[in-house]
Amino acid sequence: MKSPCIAVCKNNHGICSGCLRTMEEITGWRYLPETEQISKINQIRAIDSTHTCPNCGENSFCEISAGKERCWCFDIEKRDLSSTARSGVCLCRKCLSSLPIE
Ligand SMILES: [Zn+2]
Repeated sequence: MKSPCIAVCKNNHGICSGCLRTMEEITGWRYLPETEQISKINQIRAIDSTHTCPNCGENSFCEISAGKERCWCFDIEKRDLSSTARSGVCLCRKCLSSLPIE
């Protein structure tokens, strides 16, 4: 399976601003079985989703909600959430990565 990198990869404090994968996901990508790569891409594109982002209303995927022990958002630098609605619901990758660093 081809990498979902869209050739504008830029490390934005732990998450790529191009393909929205975390640096951990990018580093481990080629070691993932293809089935997991496909499900990861579906999660990143929110074809699979667990909730809607409280900021933009788009579909979003939280790995904790999906029963995993950790979520992609643990691997990026902490963002300043003070400008967003405090709903207790996770932001989507795009919204979270566009916030300033805490
Ligand atoms: Zn969003």
